[in-house]
Amino acid sequence: MSKKVIIIGSGIAGISSSLKLKSYGINSIIVDKGNFIGGRISTRGVNKDSRSSFFFHGAQFFTAKTNIFKKIIRTGIKEKYIREFGKFDPKRYRGNKTMRDFLVNLSKGLHIQQKVKITKIEPKNNKINVLDDKIKEWKSFDGVISTLPAPQNHQLLYKFPSLQKTLKTGSYHACIALMFTFDKIPFDLKTHYDFYKKPGILSWMAAGSNQNVWTAHTNEEFSSSNYNKDKEFLKEEILSSIKQFFINSKIKFHSLHVWKYAKVANKCFGCQIDPKYPIAIAGDFLEGPNVEDAFISGNKAADLIFDRLN
Ligand SMILES: Cc1cc2nc3c(=O)[nH]c(=O)nc-3n(C[C@H](O)[C@H](O)[C@H](O)COP(=O)(O)OP(=O)(O)OC[C@H]3O[C@@H](n4cnc5c(N)ncnc54)[C@H](O)[C@@H]3O)c2cc1C
Repeated sequence: MSKKVIIIGSGIAGISSSLKLKSYGINSIIVDKGNFIGGRISTRGVNKDSRSSFFFHGAQFFTAKTNIFKKIIRTGIKEKYIREFGKFDPKRYRGNKTMRDFLVNLSKGLHIQQKVKITKIEPKNNKINVLDDKIKEWKSFDGVISTLPAPQNHQLLYKFPSLQKTLKTGSYHACIALMFTFDKIPFDLKTHYDFYKKPGILSWMAAGSNQNVWTAHTNEEFSSSNYNKDKEFLKEEILSSIKQFFINSKIKFHSLHVWKYAKVANKCFGCQIDPKYPIAIAGDFLEGPNVEDAFISGNKAADLIFDRLN
């Protein structure tokens, strides 16, 4: 079946959509405005002592509740691009070496273009016209799946009021990620610190690809009221919280990343595919605040587009 389908976003939802379409014989193209594949499953490299280390400043791990995602995990472990993270029940997983490696391997054989931002999408006859910031010429597609976080998707899909109605119903928590290293690795260092429901401004802190590269995340309360504050202020606030846990070690600030739309607070409800045109939406905002749920929503969007094109 030679249908032209474009997927906007190379996060887990976009990749899952493209894999499912491929299983139906449709070779879609994925475009993403970022430099690297992965969206919120992101990794930042640093060269220290002539070896590369990686911070994981977005998702820290993923879980697998559904059979379809368990199958992905099994394959990844067998092919050595996923590994178990820590000892948790239910089990948690990470990309082997980096979080991004998980998506790089999962998407092998898919057609992906980074650094392409979609700026407009409009219906034209029974097809969808898409405009990007690179070629700046309208291109026509038989089907579209758009996986931007809900508020950004809402802006982009201004010509599709039914989808906009769905996208308006959800909301996100922000999150601020501070990346740091140690001058000398503390001898009693754990792999992670979970501050869930504990006092303070942090929610989680964990090592990245090795024990010298760490990311701390702020909790929902602090993030939501401070994400748009001055970066220097955020840096000082977060660093002073972190220092309490490592009183005998010198911490070195690396960088700060502010996620305005980090984790889904309230899921969206409503239609996932436009009632008239072959355009669907996918992302964590439809299923739940994590990697696996975003994956499931991508699968569902691909099913809907496939049915519509038949
Ligand atoms: C700090 C943080 C910690 C988290 N921790 C965990 C965790 O430990 N475990 C877990 O399971 N989940 C975690 N999550 C949530 C998880 O990362 C997300 O639920 C999931 O990655 C969402 O995937 P997605 O494909 O729906 O969206 P995204 O990953 O956001 O993908 C959307 C993509 O669209 C692209 N895009 C946006 N606008 C355009 C445009 N106009 N044109 C082209 N491309 C565009 C973006 O560049 C992005 O790559 C965390 C998230 C954050 C931010």
